[in-house]
Amino acid sequence: QAHLDHIEAVDGDVHAFLHVSDAALATAAQVDAARGDGARLGPLAGVPVAIKDVLCTLDMPSTAASKILEGWIPPYDATVVRKLREAHLVPLGKTNMDEFAMGSSTEHSAYGPTRNPWDLERIPGGSGGGSAAAVSAYEAPLALGSDTGGSIRQPAAVTGSVGMKPTYGGVSRYGAIALASSLDQVGPVARSVLDAGLLHDVIGGHDPRDSTSLPDVWPSFADAARAGLTGDALRGVRVGVVKELNGEGFQAGVRQRFSETLELLAEAGAEIVEVSAPHFEYAVSAYYLILPAEASSNLAKFDSVRFGLRVAPEGGGTVEQVMAATREVGFGDEVKRRIILGTYALSAGYYDAYYGSAQKVRTLIQRDFDAAFAQADVLVSPAAPTTAFKFGEKLDDPLAMYLNDITTIPANLAGVPGIGIPMGLAPEDGLPTGLQIMAPLRQDARLYTVGAAIE
Ligand code: GLN
Repeated sequence: QAHLDHIEAVDGDVHAFLHVSDAALATAAQVDAARGDGARLGPLAGVPVAIKDVLCTLDMPSTAASKILEGWIPPYDATVVRKLREAHLVPLGKTNMDEFAMGSSTEHSAYGPTRNPWDLERIPGGSGGGSAAAVSAYEAPLALGSDTGGSIRQPAAVTGSVGMKPTYGGVSRYGAIALASSLDQVGPVARSVLDAGLLHDVIGGHDPRDSTSLPDVWPSFADAARAGLTGDALRGVRVGVVKELNGEGFQAGVRQRFSETLELLAEAGAEIVEVSAPHFEYAVSAYYLILPAEASSNLAKFDSVRFGLRVAPEGGGTVEQVMAATREVGFGDEVKRRIILGTYALSAGYYDAYYGSAQKVRTLIQRDFDAAFAQADVLVSPAAPTTAFKFGEKLDDPLAMYLNDITTIPANLAGVPGIGIPMGLAPEDGLPTGLQIMAPLRQDARLYTVGAAIE
């Protein structure tokens, strides 16, 4: 009730939610009743959680912030949502995002942007700005996000929250509306590393319904976080500073907080080593070929027949005319831009030059990670090059918007886990900055330990 009241009070300004559940109180009452009957419930039983609108929910619309899915209620729960329910968390509602998770500011939502609770004139990051803002504004203690190129970590950075992108395959994508299937990963957003670990423990693990799900049995990430909170967890840890992810274009206050963080790490006994990842420079370019290529294929199913919106031209029209008319009004400009980019990159005669080259760059980036992790246990960088920018600042310049993801994209291309944690406020504007920590494939637990120790 307290969270619903707070949503009622602040969400008119923040607009973190696209839909607030009308079942939350009843669900909470059921959990209370089960507890009263002596049921043994998990550590997050009864805790409210907000869910990014890219995840399918049986009892709430799931639109991915697109007009083409307006009002659509899926016939099934995403695996992560089912797991939330089984662990007795209480879904509070669906959070706003850039349409189909394409963006870094939530300005591409078809339902209007989310505002950053730190400064309502500024963006909350994206694409998962709604989840991060909900957590940051105390509308929800926990949220789920999805991260294809930074959509959990960058919103966390600019709202002072914690956000984790798990190892690719560590969390099920079943029921997550796909953007780019080889990059997408669902993960937790929270106000502390331990809280994120508790939520990751609930949603993670093998899912036979996702063919890319890893068969691994994972350690408890909450325990990993607790190990970081006690004792001397940073002593002897080799922390690699990625030279290419802290360059000239980064905001001064972000760089300042980052170098102070490195000093604190050294004082705590970590060994700071500089590492170079020469191909990270090409990560954004490769990403903006691979992502649109996969997205254009994934979005082909929105054909006016199977889902949601259908717009018929006056007097009827052929199947193709109905499809075109529906997509014309159903998809926003950024979605159209990426579908066109993707189909172009995949077209005969261009495939090798664009998509093929991008895949080769992807391999080189994976090798850069391998070389860097031979020298360091974890890699660090700022989680975003700037603090939250103002609405409209990058809206007419897609390239400037794309470059905001320079720090987060490499981890998606390689599948490695990355966590964003608060790094203090930038002196020049008083806004949150974020630290990104990355680990080798499957070493998510290491991020919780190191992250909790730094936090
Ligand atoms: N901002 C990036 C993009 O626009 C990342 C999106 C994401 O992680 N979903 O593609």
